[in-house]
Amino acid sequence: MAKRIAVIGAGPSGLTAAKAALEVGLEPTIFEASTTGMGGLWKKSGGFVWNNMRTNLTKWSCSFSDHPWDEEADDFPFGSALLQYLLGYATRFGLEKRVAFGQRVARLERDGATWQVTTAGSIGAPQSFDGVIVAGGVVRQALHPGVTRTRPLQRHNGCIPASIATVRACTASASPWSAAGFRASTSPAISRRPAPR
Ligand SMILES: Cc1cc2nc3c(=O)[nH]c(=O)nc-3n(C[C@H](O)[C@H](O)[C@H](O)COP(=O)(O)OP(=O)(O)OC[C@H]3O[C@@H](n4cnc5c(N)ncnc54)[C@H](O)[C@@H]3O)c2cc1C
Repeated sequence: MAKRIAVIGAGPSGLTAAKAALEVGLEPTIFEASTTGMGGLWKKSGGFVWNNMRTNLTKWSCSFSDHPWDEEADDFPFGSALLQYLLGYATRFGLEKRVAFGQRVARLERDGATWQVTTAGSIGAPQSFDGVIVAGGVVRQALHPGVTRTRPLQRHNGCIPASIATVRACTASASPWSAAGFRASTSPAISRRPAPR
């Protein structure tokens, strides 16, 4: 009998892990906490990217070897295009039927040769699997600097104040910074260390 694998998360990592598991004859079940679909932080509803965000890598870098981008796609696609790309990947490899939506894994326990998976709010016995792949995302938690009177700015949806400062100098902060640069009158970038040239 094929070994059963629990995959935690239906973002890019969980989808690719499930597809790889299928390729080697495993039986993956993807547990996804969200009820709003696959795609992880790229989801339109319940995701973590803003409307006019573009990828900070080109479509050739943000590409799976077995699922090419549409030739017409922008070099740096919008987040919405990346979501469509991921959904296309899930369709191509028949992954959607493997996803259990609204199932946040709350507990993992080793029990001899198996793993016991308990989801939040579940009633009854945990589910048993031969293996577990944790793909719950590592950059979902926003880090806020220790300053007062700020509101978390996760999505600006095109509404940018006259002046906006970007804190941190990494590729992820370059994206909101460049978006602000086109719209705001000033857009300083604040970093603890000088950015490498
Ligand atoms: C602002 C920003 C911009 C980025 N830009 C790019 C880019 O341009 N190009 C690029 O390649 N990468 C980019 N990244 C990196 C990004 O992390 C990856 O693109 C990708 O989304 C990571 O996929 P993931 O599946 O590991 O995690 P996520 O996309 O975070 O997906 C994790 C999934 O796991 C689910 N989950 C979490 N915990 C549980 C649980 N206990 N039980 C069940 N489900 C759970 C979540 O609901 C979610 O659906 C960016 C990241 C950020 C934050």
